[in-house]
Amino acid sequence: MMVTTHAAMGAALVALLPLSPRLAGVAALAAFCGGVFPDLDLLVGEHRRTLHYPDYYALCALPLAGLAVLRPLALTACVAAFVGAAALHSVADAFGGGLAPRPWLSDDHRGVYCRLGRRWLHPRHWIRWDGAPEDLALCGVCVCVVLLAADGHVRTLAAATLPVSVAYTALRKRLPDLAPWLVE
Ligand SMILES: [Zn+2]
Repeated sequence: MMVTTHAAMGAALVALLPLSPRLAGVAALAAFCGGVFPDLDLLVGEHRRTLHYPDYYALCALPLAGLAVLRPLALTACVAAFVGAAALHSVADAFGGGLAPRPWLSDDHRGVYCRLGRRWLHPRHWIRWDGAPEDLALCGVCVCVVLLAADGHVRTLAAATLPVSVAYTALRKRLPDLAPWLVE
C-alpha cells in the first residue's frame, strides 16, 4: 500500500473514535504521522522489516490505548494514536503486494517481517500492489473520512495526500523503468 494510504487510514481510524474535541485533532495528527513512520525504513535499513513491527506495535498499542482512556491527556492520546497507526500500517502491509519492484507479478513472498514468528508474512494481495486502483480508492475513502470527521491540520495533510496518490498510481507501473532506485 502507498504510504499516503497508510497515513490517511491511521488518521481516519482515530477520527472515528469518540475522543474529546480537545484531544481529537492532535490524536488524528499523531495517527497520520504514525501511519507514515514505518515506511521511513525505505530510507534507512531494510524495507518492511527495520521499522515494521506487526507484532510489537500491536502488543504495545493495547496498553497505550488503555492508558489514554484512564489518563486522557494530549501526550497519552498522541502516543497511543501514533503506535496504533504504526501497528495498523505494519499489519496492513501483509495484505498488500510483495516487496519486488513489480509486485503485480506476485513474484515475491515477502509481505512484512514478523519478529515474533522470525519470518516474513506472505503478501495476501488484497491490495494487489502499492499504487493499484484499489489502493487509491482506499486512500480516497480514508481521506473523505478524515475530512468529514476530523478537525485541525490533519485535514489539510490528508487532502494533500490525494494528488500525490493519484500521481503515484498513474506512474507506478512505469517506476521500475523510470526510477529503478526508487522501487529497489
Ligand atoms: Zn509499510
